[in-house]
Amino acid sequence: MEDRLFRTAMGKFATGVTVITTKVGGNVHGMTANAFMSVSLNPKLVLISIGEKANMNRLIKQSGKFAVSVLNESQQDLSAYFAGQIKEERDVKFDTFNHMPVIKDALVNLTCNVHDAVIAGDHTLYIGEVTDLRVQDGEPLGFFEGKYKKVV
Ligand code: FAD
Ligand code: NAD
Repeated sequence: MEDRLFRTAMGKFATGVTVITTKVGGNVHGMTANAFMSVSLNPKLVLISIGEKANMNRLIKQSGKFAVSVLNESQQDLSAYFAGQIKEERDVKFDTFNHMPVIKDALVNLTCNVHDAVIAGDHTLYIGEVTDLRVQDGEPLGFFEGKYKKVV
């Protein structure tokens, strides 16, 4: 099967967009991800899937922690930036929530300790136990067929 066909098929599953953040020795790193899901209520678990070559993969292994920020509809530019699609380096101002860097004004900020990590093909699935979260009103940034979409 062609990679392109697989990506086209997976792109038919409409998602929101998150920025994953972590911190190692005072250095903050962010990465755009749409592979995010809720896993368990008791305990509170979520899952992210990170490509083996992503800097984020190495950094979460080191820190044992990550945060997830669910982007709002006005944060498409941040999504493109943290996906490496905007080449100039920026001085991004992160908020701090529960001692972790997070994206300001996101619909949700949540912090996690890594509960389990499972290598799955060319990605690692990180299951995170949620240590704290906060929620804001607003409309989400959507992603469908490889393009950003308004959800409402
Ligand atoms: P890098 O390429 O190292 O960093 C990304 C960008 O953020 C760079 O420009 C870097 O300079 C900048 N940056 C990072 N931290 C900071 C900081 N503290 N201050 C200023 N700038 C900073 N990949 C997956 O593995 N899983 C997914 O679920 C996933 N979903 C995606 C969804 C969408 C909608 C898109 C567009 C991409 C997605 N990707 C996903 C691809 C992923 O975002 C990119 O491949 C990413 O560049 C790889 O991550 P990295 O850690 O190597 O980031
Ligand atoms: P695209 O058409 O590549 O993505 C459509 C869908 O395909 C995504 O929502 C995802 O479900 C799946 N997908 C894409 N690349 C994948 C990968 N390497 N591993 C597993 N699933 C993947 O959309 P696009 O706008 O061209 O994406 C921009 C860049 O971000 C591409 O380089 C793409 O590979 C990457 N991306 C990676 C993932 C991921 O690793 N899970 C998810 C989305 C986008």
